[in-house]
Amino acid sequence: GLAFRFVDPDASASAGAIAELIRAEYTSAEAMAAARDCDVVTFEFENVPVAAARELARNVMFLPPPEALEVAQDRLLEKTCFVELGIETPRFEAVASPEELDRALERIGTPAVLKARRQGYDGKGQSAIDAPARSRQAWERAGSSAAEHGFIVEQLVAFERELSIIAVRGRNGETRTYPLIENHHAGGILSFSVTPAPRLTAELQSVAADYAARLLARFDYVGVLTLELFDVGGRLLANEFAPRVHNSGHLTIEGAETSQFENHLRAILGFPLGSTRVPRPAGMLNLIGTMPERARLLEVDGAHLYDYGKAPRAGRKLGHVTLCRDTTDAVLHELESSKRALDE
Ligand code: AMP
Repeated sequence: GLAFRFVDPDASASAGAIAELIRAEYTSAEAMAAARDCDVVTFEFENVPVAAARELARNVMFLPPPEALEVAQDRLLEKTCFVELGIETPRFEAVASPEELDRALERIGTPAVLKARRQGYDGKGQSAIDAPARSRQAWERAGSSAAEHGFIVEQLVAFERELSIIAVRGRNGETRTYPLIENHHAGGILSFSVTPAPRLTAELQSVAADYAARLLARFDYVGVLTLELFDVGGRLLANEFAPRVHNSGHLTIEGAETSQFENHLRAILGFPLGSTRVPRPAGMLNLIGTMPERARLLEVDGAHLYDYGKAPRAGRKLGHVTLCRDTTDAVLHELESSKRALDE
């Protein structure tokens, strides 16, 4: 019952397969014109220029708020926001020169990781530092292209696992969270996810939900937000947040009573939020680089295939598969064996 119009600078954007697609730069007059007769405008891509978001927000209802986008795009603002909200995060400092990096390492220690403040994702623009003597090398490896916006250096934490929590906040401030998701990466890219995270305790869930709620309240947020966390022996440290629906949350399509996508729409449209309950453990496997044969994927009992229709490219997310089982162990087992079969 809803009608959609999409704007993307890429004429082959996946959304074009299902609704009107206007090929335009986000900051262009065409993009502004496309938004004019919409009831609400949102985004599902984090690198939308904040200037375009602010301009749109002056003219139409634009949700989530551009400020959340602005903070999420800059690792220094993001980490500072975590600290201000009492959300635990690895120790970090802003650094703008190799000398500043050396001084910061004296306080933070090694191992550490140098990250470009802007435009880094899936481990891009990052460089590990295993000993102080390696700092110059890391600085050079991190690349001069990122240097104009500066870097942060942070403590490399020996986490047990990576988790994410998807939260949603409605226009009236109502907030709901999904059960914690456990994420498995390969080569810095999300490979597969399972929810509820194995060994999930009520306490872990409540700390993560509380952190997400603090972020939502801070921005007077409306829509879906994702917080990525490191689990260090039961202590949760925030890595970053995404002001949008999230790859790890794709498992909510079949796994939850209301998917993250539907809840995002409900939130920005001012409708009541849907239940975030996960009746059965659910999993998601990313299809990366090349698209496997469809029949092979669909052979797996209960598997649902999503093909984004994108051209194959190393490291590119081309689609995903979701499935549900009676136990998280069974989900993990299925995801791991499917991944092994695809890697062969
Ligand atoms: P990011 O782009 O910040 O999400 O980082 C990509 C991946 O690098 C994360 O998913 C972690 O696996 C790893 N990573 C990033 N920061 C840290 C850190 N401070 N300590 C340990 N691992 C990290």
